[in-house]
Amino acid sequence: MWVKTFLKSCSVITSLYGKVATLLILLLCLFFLIATLFSFLGHKKLEVAFLNVGQGDATLITTPNGYQILIDGGRDLSVLGELKKYLSYFDTSIDMVILTHADADHLTGLLPVFEKFTIRHVVTSSYVSSSSLEEIFEEKVVEEKAVRYVVSSGDSFHVDGVTLYMLHPKKDTLTYTKDINNASVTFIMTYGEASFLFTGDLSSTYEPSLLVKQLPKKISVYKAGHHGSNTSSGELLLSYIRPTYTVVSAGEGNSYGHPHQEVIERLLKYNSHIFSTASSGSITVVTDGKSIDVQTEK
Ligand SMILES: [Zn+2]
Repeated sequence: MWVKTFLKSCSVITSLYGKVATLLILLLCLFFLIATLFSFLGHKKLEVAFLNVGQGDATLITTPNGYQILIDGGRDLSVLGELKKYLSYFDTSIDMVILTHADADHLTGLLPVFEKFTIRHVVTSSYVSSSSLEEIFEEKVVEEKAVRYVVSSGDSFHVDGVTLYMLHPKKDTLTYTKDINNASVTFIMTYGEASFLFTGDLSSTYEPSLLVKQLPKKISVYKAGHHGSNTSSGELLLSYIRPTYTVVSAGEGNSYGHPHQEVIERLLKYNSHIFSTASSGSITVVTDGKSIDVQTEK
């Protein structure tokens, strides 16, 4: 008799255990479904973070599915602290590094980035300055076994609905320019209706050559050329792009006086909302391809 009772109890426990297990599995499936849905929905935005690296440039782009592009690295180690704010603790790689040009305020910070992260792709122009800094960078790229792209105007990259279209340098520019700033990799990035223009330290002499059909006549976000110097952001370019937002990457109290007052006045003529890393810290722009949201650190 007790054997029967025991077996009955066992079957009750087994069936109860089975129900609990099924319920747990269902809950787990539901959790993963919701988590996947949230991550899917949560990444359908393009994020552009203008990092606060003092007097220099470093911008981190994260595409809707998490492809990371770092443009320049600033002039010191501060880029590492800035990246920590945007990358997960477990993130040990950056998909693409774009070096606009090999000046110290753009390149130096990339060297520790190469130490800390695996870099998969590297984009540069073909300009060679042969500075010792550039030589170290070239060694790092080779050590890293990163895929190298040497770009010129007309080249493009497409990731997650985001397009990077190179506007400068033209293939022949580099044969006659002596100014490394004018070798800056310059490109328009578009996602839906949102557009971003990055011109590195390109001077206004070359800005008219950027006005091609791929450059929208109204830009959502313009990263002010050459840290807001009056040698860039000429009238012709600004009257064409009429940027809704402008971001200046410059150091607080920098000795160059960046951004220059003339540039601010030129931008205000087009009602551009101007942000500067010098006063706002890092600046994050998020877009779903339609609306633009700008957040500042300070
Ligand atoms: Zn610079």
